[in-house]
Amino acid sequence: MKIAFVGLGNMGSPMARNLLRHGHSLVVFDVVQRNVDALTAAGAMAATSVRAAAATAELVITMLPSSPHVKTVYLGDDGVLAGVPSGIPLIDSSTIDPHSAREVAAAAAAHGNPMADAPVSGGTGGAETATLTFMVGAEPAVFDRIKPLLAQMGKNIVYCGNSGTGQVAKICNNMLLGISMIGVAEAMNLGAALGIEPKILAGVINTSSGRCWSSDTYNPYPGVLDNAPAARGYSGGFGTDLMLKDLGLATDAAKQARQPVTLGAAAQQLYQIWSAHGAGGQDFSSIINLLKGCE
Ligand code: NAD
Repeated sequence: MKIAFVGLGNMGSPMARNLLRHGHSLVVFDVVQRNVDALTAAGAMAATSVRAAAATAELVITMLPSSPHVKTVYLGDDGVLAGVPSGIPLIDSSTIDPHSAREVAAAAAAHGNPMADAPVSGGTGGAETATLTFMVGAEPAVFDRIKPLLAQMGKNIVYCGNSGTGQVAKICNNMLLGISMIGVAEAMNLGAALGIEPKILAGVINTSSGRCWSSDTYNPYPGVLDNAPAARGYSGGFGTDLMLKDLGLATDAAKQARQPVTLGAAAQQLYQIWSAHGAGGQDFSSIINLLKGCE
């Protein structure tokens, strides 16, 4: 298949490489030339603009930072809709707000192009090993059409409902993750301050009702898990600023829906404070250090 791939950053680049590995022909575009060069060296063709990339493609995939980028890339004068023939399916895998996802999908539909929002979880590691989870919002027939292709970049391809629901699933999950990490961090800090060995406390939590992914797979307390970011000074993993972005999307969407998210909003503020302390690039589980009392 001839695929236009736009946005070749930390996630887009390894995803595009997996499609090349499956024998697709890729036409790529990114505003950063070295990202394009890295992909052409791997066998892709470079396009001179988004519009040019989309003009000859049988399918378009985008992986961009945030909503304004997605709107520019799809709706701009030199964008996807300006170049793509009608009938070609469009997939946006960026994490953006559900409202913008629906707006862009409606413009695509008016142009005759079915569109899916398909944000991912699994991080750069999942992108490299093609084990991402895709959360897909689209018409059921569009989902059936694109699922085999997404399966070449991911392991779990989940149908969430119509347009925008992939983004809804993504921001709800990540809001819960941001909150649960703070909860586990508080419990671990309290236990340590009161004199229990952190590894023993984690063992109790993980066989009791407090157990969750933040406690048993990604425990933020150093020394509890050998392979969590806490064991390597909170390097790698999922950055505080990326968590902050997703919590901002969740709290903004909650405002629009007039839905209270008191813990989500508190979590957003705590990660914001932590980012302002200079920890934006550290894994988000480093929030435990903000929550530590005096030693
Ligand atoms: P990134 O910043 O590394 O990559 C984005 C790419 O888009 C960059 O190469 C940038 O040059 C390009 N770009 C920006 N504007 C463009 C334009 N107008 N035309 C063409 N290219 C343009 O970001 P990333 O880490 O790859 O993340 C992409 C998306 O995936 C984000 O929405 C992010 O929230 C989401 N996400 C990231 C992770 C992660 O661990 N990095 C995990 C899950 C989801």
